[in-house]
Amino acid sequence: MHIDFKISRETSNELRPNKKIMLKVLKLVIAASFLLISLSFAIRQEPDTSKSSSKVNTVVIDAGHGGKDPGTRGRTTKEKDVALKVALELGRKIKEETPEVKVLFTRSTDVFIELGERSAFANRNNADLFISIHCNATPRSKTVHGTETFVMGLHKTEGNLEVARRENSVILQETNYKQKYKGFDPNSPLAHIMLANYQSAFISSSLRLADLIEKKFQSVSDRESRGVKQAGFLVLWRCAMPAVLIETGFLSSPDEEDYLSSDDGQTEVAESIHQAFTAYKKDMDR
Ligand SMILES: [Zn+2]
Repeated sequence: MHIDFKISRETSNELRPNKKIMLKVLKLVIAASFLLISLSFAIRQEPDTSKSSSKVNTVVIDAGHGGKDPGTRGRTTKEKDVALKVALELGRKIKEETPEVKVLFTRSTDVFIELGERSAFANRNNADLFISIHCNATPRSKTVHGTETFVMGLHKTEGNLEVARRENSVILQETNYKQKYKGFDPNSPLAHIMLANYQSAFISSSLRLADLIEKKFQSVSDRESRGVKQAGFLVLWRCAMPAVLIETGFLSSPDEEDYLSSDDGQTEVAESIHQAFTAYKKDMDR
């Protein structure tokens, strides 16, 4: 009993200096935490030099259509072939002049890819930009011609809706399309809510690129620009990054068909988009 008491007294006596030490340690830990927190803020504010500071590191180039889906047709030209040639040439130019940019293609051969898979591919790869390449057509006239670049949005004219309908119609060749694209209805009054969920965060960047593309078509190759437009494109719908869809010209116009099916024409189209890409990247990185 006595021994027990002594031990416990000694123990309680020894606790006092321990408490002081504990308090000191606690103060040190608190001070260290503050230091660490402020350091981490300081580090966060410093540019990360180990990684690229560019905002455009990965670009997905999407050649429209492919495989069983030829897209629109001219007399002899298929949209899917023009789109692929232009896409590959654009990718080659970007790789050549900005090798630090990762270039990915949704397709590099003549294969069928579902619309939803194209944006999903870009999302999976954390792309910073999505460029979809197409050719236009109208059954009404052989003289209608020129380029137009679309961003996701609500169509303001019947003409824009017509383009979107044509480009979206390929889903009829996909299985289960009703299930897959449930909720997509650009004609519905709720469409703006749907848009708010996906592309609206990127609309100003998308518009900036679209504007540059249309300007470069005019300045690089003297094409007639029909302007930047908005409509509900399924291929752009779920892109979690700035995204544009380029109608590089009308295959229903014999003159433009000749131009778009020629090597020179395809190279010029790719060059115009490439110059717009370069200007956009510069803008974004500033
Ligand atoms: Zn198309």
